[in-house]
Amino acid sequence: MHLPTAHELSEQLNRGETTSVKLTQQYLEKIERTEPRLHSFITVLGHEALAAAEASDRRRAYELPKSPFDGVPVAVKDNMITKGTKTTCASRILDNFVPPYNGTVVQKLQDAGMIVIGKANLDEFAMGSSTENSAFGRSNNPWNTDLVPGGSSGGSATCVAGGQVPWSLGSDTGGSIRQPAALCGIVGMKPTYGRVSRYGLVAFASSLDQIGPMTLDVEDTAHLLKMISGYDTKDSTSANLPVPDYAEEMRKGSLRGKKVARPKEFFTGEGMDAGVARVVDAAVEKLASLGAEIVDVSMPHLKYSISCYYLVATAECSSNLARYDGAQYGYRTEGAKNIVEMFSKSRAEGFGAEVKRRIMMGTHALSAGYYDAYYSKALKIRTLLKQDYDAALKQADLIVAPTSPIPAFPAGAKADPMSMYLCDIFTLSLNLAGYCGISLPAGFTANEGLPVGVQLFAGAFEEVKLLQASYEFEKALGVVGSRLPAVVG
Ligand code: GLN
Repeated sequence: MHLPTAHELSEQLNRGETTSVKLTQQYLEKIERTEPRLHSFITVLGHEALAAAEASDRRRAYELPKSPFDGVPVAVKDNMITKGTKTTCASRILDNFVPPYNGTVVQKLQDAGMIVIGKANLDEFAMGSSTENSAFGRSNNPWNTDLVPGGSSGGSATCVAGGQVPWSLGSDTGGSIRQPAALCGIVGMKPTYGRVSRYGLVAFASSLDQIGPMTLDVEDTAHLLKMISGYDTKDSTSANLPVPDYAEEMRKGSLRGKKVARPKEFFTGEGMDAGVARVVDAAVEKLASLGAEIVDVSMPHLKYSISCYYLVATAECSSNLARYDGAQYGYRTEGAKNIVEMFSKSRAEGFGAEVKRRIMMGTHALSAGYYDAYYSKALKIRTLLKQDYDAALKQADLIVAPTSPIPAFPAGAKADPMSMYLCDIFTLSLNLAGYCGISLPAGFTANEGLPVGVQLFAGAFEEVKLLQASYEFEKALGVVGSRLPAVVG
């Protein structure tokens, strides 16, 4: 038995073997059964989803589906704006915020006839690597509910891995799609900066944020990526480039003769769990057995990626989060004596500890006297990091790396912020470079039987190349669908 993928469900719908109402009911029942153990969602859209499913079935009855995926359920991270549905970012400061419009990706899902079944849990404002920073409680890993699912798109990972929905969208600023995908045993992709519109994605760090698919297999990632990609006049950073038919193109490549760079800094890091290292090394051998040539390279500036990221991301977040002041929307404190007190109390009561820490670090890095020492230096290091990527991608077609140095860990195990920040050591440099990457299920740790991910990276707008390699690699790895987590709906 394996969990049905979205492309399998689409075939069943196209053949008339099921209906959208049946599917939606089945998934809602699974959610009801498993949500007490997983806590994937901040909001579940029962009635709305069923009404949308009925409309989808009517379209199919008249043979007018909006897309092959018309009627297939999907979940979105709760930092994506949904018209008429609460969008909280897992923060108390937005716990009553009901947006009057749809984000572009949400609109695109609806235009394809898909059924948005829920808003998935996350670390507050996507800041974290475990979902423990959610103001509404953490999500639990379906492989072992005492463990965290990773983050910040933890709910988007647990709902897919736990069988509550066939696929979902997450957002990735420094690894928030790929790390939880790895810890929950699913596929997670960060597209190139500019590939997917962020209009209606609540901003964390605008030069890094990107939306991407979280799915059970690579084929679903290709389909979902096509659906959400493309130029958007409402996002000036979106690229005006054609969107390939990724699922079609994906089948045309071969790893034979391709060069894959193995940067030594990604494979000799301290803090690497031995069980994870064994699985990742075996995955690299699989690449070689498919005919890829493994090229050993060095990316010397990777050692600065954590410091660089935590200056750039916090600086941008301190500016982006200045808008939450209780004046226009969101949480407002009671009984403030004047407007300054209203601003400061609303923010003090509305934001959680990690968000406050980031706003303070970012404000400090941007302040007069420290700007040159911190922020402007971080920007220079960012350029050097990007040059490391360019040099590696000049010598090779792709880069291979572990996704996370450790498998899923117990809640509370990383109380010290620095130890939490280290979870993203292998993911955040890709966002600083702006390129695309994917985490694939590579296997399981021998001792605990926990999922391990492996990443592939490619250059700007090389998603086709990345998916071609991933499609073949996934089959050779043979992990997808091989085991089911303990909690499955
Ligand atoms: N864990 C990283 C952070 O806390 C990355 C978060 C993300 O990608 N949204 O900033």
